[in-house]
Parts: sequence; structure tokens; C-alpha cells
Amino acid sequence: MNTNLTGKTGILGIIGWPVAHSLSPLMQNAACVALGLDYVYVPFPVAPENLRKAVDGLRALGVTGFNVTIPHKEAIVGLLDILSDEARLIGAVNTVKREGDRLTGHNTDAAGLITSLQDDLEFDIKGSRVLLLGAGGAARAAIVGLCRAGAASVIVANRTPDKAERLVADFRSAFSGANLAVSPLDILKGDQRLKDVDLLINTTAVGLGGTTFDGVDLAPMAPCACVYDMVYSPALTPLLAEARRNSLRSANGVGMLAAQGEAAFSFWTGCEPPNGLMKSRLMAALGGQDMLDNEVYSK
Ligand code: NAP
Repeated sequence: MNTNLTGKTGILGIIGWPVAHSLSPLMQNAACVALGLDYVYVPFPVAPENLRKAVDGLRALGVTGFNVTIPHKEAIVGLLDILSDEARLIGAVNTVKREGDRLTGHNTDAAGLITSLQDDLEFDIKGSRVLLLGAGGAARAAIVGLCRAGAASVIVANRTPDKAERLVADFRSAFSGANLAVSPLDILKGDQRLKDVDLLINTTAVGLGGTTFDGVDLAPMAPCACVYDMVYSPALTPLLAEARRNSLRSANGVGMLAAQGEAAFSFWTGCEPPNGLMKSRLMAALGGQDMLDNEVYSK
């Protein structure tokens, strides 16, 4: 971390509740140090009822920029002055930059996911058929990223079906070239429709701490299909273990976490972070990732 703080040091940070578990300070400070940039990145725990005050405070304090994580990504949208096209379409912000007195909201999750699918799975999104688990903020970012990258179809399966219906309805007109549909989560239980899925992405919180979907059976998926889990702790989630049992190419969300962070860093500083630095710092901090990666890549 930059320990030579001066009156000119730029402040970056992250707001969330809780925020103590966040690995963003680790990877962002590593990039600042590696490039010799005079910034420091700090965690700000902000309870939901304090969000407006916190945003006003960050604006008044003149911070350079900050990340936004659960539960504020959607609530912050109305508190900012400008939204990028991506953030407006997704309806959620994970990165804010101050320009003069104005705060611009941006969303780097969609780009982070697409980068990770390409780098970690070498997955060709154009023309692909995707099954997306979840209908929250991460699913909204995923659907925007996937449709912009040319996915042919996206089926959304969510525990609360109404939310999946709403998500698909929200994006039908923006992405009329893609076939958007919904399915019950039961599709995961060995449903024959899995045969036609090229890529399964979990955007739900299921997998965190080793939690699992009921009766998941991916046996019908084609041998060339891929599975991506946005969850990265544990490194090998039960969904990824099921993918591995079926010899499917798979990756967890650590690459997405690094890629969305790299995009945020460039947005704030105008500099590219050193290639691979953020991901390697994350993997070292999370432990067990090397083993998973070796197995993923050795297929
Ligand atoms: P969110 O808006 O709160 O949405 C949560 C989603 O998870 C909803 O679809 C919810 O279904 C579903 N869900 C929660 N518990 C469930 C359960 N027990 N069974 C089935 N479905 C369940 O959260 P989010 O912002 O989309 O984030 C979701 C996950 O993605 C989090 O774990 C987050 O850490 C991860 N994420 C990772 C990255 C990365 O860089 N790797 C980036 C963004 C997000 P209902 O609608 O039925 O409640």
C-alpha cells in the first residue's frame, strides 16, 4: 500500500455493507504501488440508511472515485449526476468517478464478466446459448454484457420467477436480436433442455460458503459446454464440482472480480494496471485457487 501519503494523495475506495470481506483494497492498492501512482484505496462501511449522507460526504471530501458493492449498487443510481450508457441500461453502478463537482456512475461488471469468459474459458459468446441463474444486479450486468457480445439466446432461471420475468421484459426491446426467455430453476435437475446450453452462468449467491442448488445434475450438458460461477469462495463451488464431474470446462468468478477492478482502475486513473497483477493478488489471498486453475487449464 502507498505509505508515503501527502497532501496531494488521491483517495479511492469502496462503499458496501458489510465491506470488511472485500478484496478490492488489496488488488487496487497493489496496482497503485506497482505503477507508482499517488493514490490510496480504502474501505468505507456504509449502512443502507446512510447511503445518501455517505455519497454527499465522498463528494465533499473530493475523493477521486470509489467502488460500490452490495447492497448499494442499485440504490446509488438516483444519487449520482451522470450515468454511463452501460450503468443506465443495467440499472446498477459499481464504479463512481468524480469530475469537478459531478459524480459519474459506471458499471464494469458486464465488461469484467465478458473479459473473464474470454480469458479464463476461451468462450466464444457470439451466437451462443446461455442459461443464466439469478435475476439480481449481477444477472442484469451479465445479460447486458452477453447480449452486447452477440449471444443468440439467454434463458433466465431464478428462485423467484416473477423477478426473472421482469428482468427479461426489461431487456427485450434493448436486445431484440437475442432470444430472451425464462425457466424454473428446476432446469438444473438434469432437464434435457440442458443439452442445448453452451454456457451456464451462476449469478446468484448460491455457492458462497459451499451452499448448493437442490438436486443439481448437469449430465445432459454437451461435452463442449462451459460453466461459470461468479462466486469464488470457495474456489471450487458445488456447481463447479458438478461441472468437473461431467468434464465440463469451468471457472469461478475470481477472473471477473479482477477484470471489473482493472476496468475501474483505468476509469479513475487513466492508466492500465499491470497485466495479471490484480488476479494473482486475489488468488494468493483466496488460497486454493491455484489448484483449481491448474485443473481447469489442464483439461
Ligand atoms: P442480488 O441483486 O441480491 O441478487 C441475488 C440473486 O441470488 C437473486 O437472483 C436471488 O434470487 C438469488 N439467490 C439468493 N439466495 C438464493 C438461494 N438460496 N437460492 C436460490 N437463489 C438465491 O445480488 P447480486 O448483486 O446480483 O450478486 C449475486 C452474487 O454474484 C453475489 O454472490 C455476488 O458476490 C456475486 N458477484 C460476483 C462478482 C464477481 O466479480 N465475481 C460481481 C458481482 C456479483 P431471488 O430473486 O429469488 O431472491
